[in-house]
Amino acid sequence: MKYNDNPMKRKTTNDPDGIRSIKEDARRYIWHPFTQMAEWEKAMPLIIERGKGVYLYDMDGKRYLDGASSLWVNLHGHRKAALDRAIKNQLNKIAHSTLLGLTNVPAIRLAKKLISKAPKGLAKVFFSDNGSTAMEVALKIAFQYWRHRGKPRKTKFISLVNAYHGDTIGSVSIGGIELFHGLYSPLLFPTVKVGAPYCYRCFLNKTYPECRLACADAVETILSEHHPETAAVVIEPMIQGAAGMLTWPPGYLKQIRDLCTRYHVLLIADEVFTGFGRTGTMFASEHERVTPDLMAVAKGLTGGYMPLAATLATQEIYDAFRGEYREFKTFFHGHSYTGNQLGCAAALANLEIFEKERVLEKLRPKIEALARFLKPLQGHPHVGEVRQIGLIAAVELVKDRTTKEPYPLEERWGWRAAQEALKRGMILRPLGNVVPLLPPLSVTLPQLKKMVSILEESIRAVTET
Ligand SMILES: *Cc1c(COP(=O)(O)O)cnc(C)c1O
Repeated sequence: MKYNDNPMKRKTTNDPDGIRSIKEDARRYIWHPFTQMAEWEKAMPLIIERGKGVYLYDMDGKRYLDGASSLWVNLHGHRKAALDRAIKNQLNKIAHSTLLGLTNVPAIRLAKKLISKAPKGLAKVFFSDNGSTAMEVALKIAFQYWRHRGKPRKTKFISLVNAYHGDTIGSVSIGGIELFHGLYSPLLFPTVKVGAPYCYRCFLNKTYPECRLACADAVETILSEHHPETAAVVIEPMIQGAAGMLTWPPGYLKQIRDLCTRYHVLLIADEVFTGFGRTGTMFASEHERVTPDLMAVAKGLTGGYMPLAATLATQEIYDAFRGEYREFKTFFHGHSYTGNQLGCAAALANLEIFEKERVLEKLRPKIEALARFLKPLQGHPHVGEVRQIGLIAAVELVKDRTTKEPYPLEERWGWRAAQEALKRGMILRPLGNVVPLLPPLSVTLPQLKKMVSILEESIRAVTET
């Protein structure tokens, strides 16, 4: 029997053969990202069919809390009426036309709205499709900017240890996660790496605040030596996400901004993950009143609905590219789906939801509650550190709390905890020994409490046996 697309009909006709065949096909045709496929082929894949609010539903109708915001993208829950409507309305007009030689209404309106929300000083929007390409665009603009400014020696990038900026070759070049990036080193352009402000495992063996941000001084040391050949410093402001939700000590971001200004180097903020309220402010750069020269956004831009991204630039950078055509100062870069109307309509609706529903204001009590709910976890024998910024929480599991000795990665403690959470009805995506919890911003207090209690039970279940 053929798989019936309509779950209501399927229920009445009871169509187990159809479900079985799609489960077989799920293992037969798709090569999954960041996934050991030999293992995937053996397991029963979880096939998501619908979503509503903070819940995802599989083909058997089983319900799960979306504790990873569908990999850090979802903001207002699934099937958000205003987003559904915006896309349907746009579909009645057109799905897509190009930004090469033409423009379109939702892209224009979105660009204006985005600039009105962005840190003051950002003035122009360059669209692309995903976080990695938004970062590629930032790198190429920074490089080309210095050409046009008559400083062709400024070609290098300084980035942080543990950085994650995406999976394309340029963004991998500025990445610093050995497990993901090490293998590709022969393909990458050279960058200067500097230690990251990961206080729990300080690379300078110091303690905040007595350290007086010695890690920022380390950036200055590197800048004072390399600034004549450096185009930009690249950062994930306030929190390094993929590295394990490593939150920054207060003051570091501001210092990096000041150093970039002082040494005539651009600051590229990768807000792909942190943008759109995730850290409690619209953009993480706002925590320290910083305006980057270039800013990449993606994940939450459409509320988690459509693949759309953008790189924002200052007027000064934009102006350096202006000239006669024959000067060839044009930014020769663009993608087939740049400025996609459906994506832009969703993003515009997303930003309107922030205004109409006062999302950031309503976030404050949730952020405080999350901190409260997380407290008991801090005393657990295998919890090294509990980190939080905004509605992002993460628990770093350790073998030994006193020495901070990590569990060996191949023992997969984070993954085991996520498996336990799945049994208890919540989807989590571990990062090595770190178990992050990222509820959609629309989560209610009781749902948040439930999520943290499943997180805690799951960690107990794996570490106390
Ligand atoms: C996810 C992420 C990216 C890459 O975005 P994609 O849309 O997955 O290409 C880049 N930077 C940061 C900080 C991210 O979290």
